[in-house]
Amino acid sequence: LTEGCAEAAQLVTPPTTLEVGKGGAHKYDSGHAIVLGGAPGQGGAARMAARGALRIGAGLVTLACPLRAVAENAVHVNAIMLRGMDGPHGLHEILEDHRVSALCLGPGLGLTQATAELVKVALQSGLPVVLDADALSRFQRQPQALFDMLHGDVVLTPHMGEFARLFPDLAERLEDDAESGPAFSKVDAVREAAARAGCVVLLKGADTVIADPAGACVVHSAHGARSAPWLATAGAGDVLAGFICGLMARHVPAFAAAELSAWLHVEAALSFGPGLIAEDLPEELPKVLRALN
Ligand code: AMP
Ligand code: MG
Repeated sequence: LTEGCAEAAQLVTPPTTLEVGKGGAHKYDSGHAIVLGGAPGQGGAARMAARGALRIGAGLVTLACPLRAVAENAVHVNAIMLRGMDGPHGLHEILEDHRVSALCLGPGLGLTQATAELVKVALQSGLPVVLDADALSRFQRQPQALFDMLHGDVVLTPHMGEFARLFPDLAERLEDDAESGPAFSKVDAVREAAARAGCVVLLKGADTVIADPAGACVVHSAHGARSAPWLATAGAGDVLAGFICGLMARHVPAFAAAELSAWLHVEAALSFGPGLIAEDLPEELPKVLRALN
């Protein structure tokens, strides 16, 4: 993927400045991440995102789930705080706490009208936001309505299917070499998507491509020593969304948060090895972070 696009995109680099648990720090110095989701019977995705945000060093993480799902989620979380919340009004109440520093919407959120309204309120807050999964797919019929709301520190984390829902023409050009010519690569597609959306776009896959609206672009290539095909497992993307949200909660800018998270995500998978399930990724992270410091 990186062949022939060396000028357009650089390989994702390992973190050099990530400080976790600085001496004397208060938990609020490391931000408060809110993960919305966790409806009855489908809470796993949101809980894994929340766990990712906590392990990557957000000082506090709250899973904001529907009131009727509080008891169900409570069985599964300890360090993650729980808050029952229904609809945009509930999110407005959460946002009254000025220590909240980043939001993650999408994993297990559902494809309802409520999801669209929550995305709107989240984006209006001006806080850093990660949009993944259902928060992206909900806008399949009117992607421009989503793009019109995007500004500031926002990261979209589609896999190829979700990318095609928001940017069908770009996905088609990628598929159809005859029309676009072999020169139209995943790097071109993601750069164009970021420019159109007006925020950072991270397209997941064996190769992960990250671009911002100004044209900066990095690639995490799955070839060679950093290949971890066992990362293609249910829930891995939810953990990645949580990593990015956790770093943005700690005031890491959107593009850097996406790049660092993509690197740490693969590193955790490599450290664990085959047999990995998504829940292992956050648990493997302390080992990876310790090796960096
Ligand atoms: P999701 O589809 O949202 O669960 O995300 C899947 C995750 O697995 C993303 O982080 C992808 O980058 C990663 N992934 C998918 N396929 C591969 C592969 N063949 N090798 C390595 N990572 C992959
Ligand atoms: Mg996903």
